[in-house]
Amino acid sequence: MAGITIAGLSTVYPNGVRAVDALDLDILDGELFALLGPSGCGKTTLLRTIAGLEGASAGDVSIGSRVVTRLPPGDRRVAMVFQDYALFPHMTVAENIAYPLRVRGVAKPVQQETAVRTAGGLSLGALLDRRPGQLSGGQQQRAALARAVAASAEVLLLDEPLSNLDARLRLEARTFLKKLQRELELTTVFVTHDQAEALALADRIAVMDAGRIRQLGTPREVFQRPADTFVANFIGSTPMNLVPRGAEIVGVRPEYLKPAAEGLFTGTVSIVENLGVTSLVTLDCGEDQIGYVVPEDEEPEIGTVVTVDAPPARVLRYDKETGLLVR
Ligand code: ATP
Repeated sequence: MAGITIAGLSTVYPNGVRAVDALDLDILDGELFALLGPSGCGKTTLLRTIAGLEGASAGDVSIGSRVVTRLPPGDRRVAMVFQDYALFPHMTVAENIAYPLRVRGVAKPVQQETAVRTAGGLSLGALLDRRPGQLSGGQQQRAALARAVAASAEVLLLDEPLSNLDARLRLEARTFLKKLQRELELTTVFVTHDQAEALALADRIAVMDAGRIRQLGTPREVFQRPADTFVANFIGSTPMNLVPRGAEIVGVRPEYLKPAAEGLFTGTVSIVENLGVTSLVTLDCGEDQIGYVVPEDEEPEIGTVVTVDAPPARVLRYDKETGLLVR
């Protein structure tokens, strides 16, 4: 068992792109940790640098008490699962799972016993003799995870682990991954650009932009108190309302606004969007558009004038110049 300490880490590609920029981060032992951010923010590069697949240009990566910055990937005791699973197509599920043990020269009966036990734990027991081409996407996913788990690494690194699955399988795999991680208590870092996935799965999230961390916190902290307007825009299935008011920007989530006799915003209902159990209402308030969420059976008519308000604790203020949360 081991946490990960990242200190002053930069990863610069030969073309000069500084994909990870002087980054500090402590990932705790046994934590399920998400690296979240838009395309190109450097999250995959950070994961690959932890794994040793990219070299650090400056700074250090430690796993447990060992500084691993100069160690090759095979000596870091990390297992990485890629977006495309990278199972060996000519090997059976059992052979795929046992592969890391075979490479290490572990005795064959132990290889087999580990493959059977790990596959059983991941509901793959009946599929041990199949090849990857004969598995569904979700089954391939689980086989790749089983291989990583069987490698008995200290740290599991997952690059967009659920991205190839359809919406329903994705939800299933999400629950499964969380349960598995809890059982194994394995320090796990996963990369995602999907904020809903990060919020649902992670113990803590680092929101990244341009090679740096914008905010580090629990899903609740990141959702309820985004540290700046970048994070406020990025997190949440409906974007936060960000409304200029003098030197500050007022930020309030659509979920926290409710119709009231008096309140923060008054405007004319212009759009009503069905979100399932709830609806997102857009108010035209002069120059600003304000969104708020209502139960689907309380949808207002288009053209109605509505005032909405939120509890004071839910109304955030951001500095107009820096975009930072005013505390
Ligand atoms: P995505 O979600 O699209 O995978 P990401 O957040 O994982 O994005 P990275 O893949 O880490 O981002 O890329 C970070 C930056 O480094 C980007 O500007 C990208 O263009 C650049 N980059 C990535 N790989 C290389 C490479 N091999 N050589 C040069 N530049 C690279």
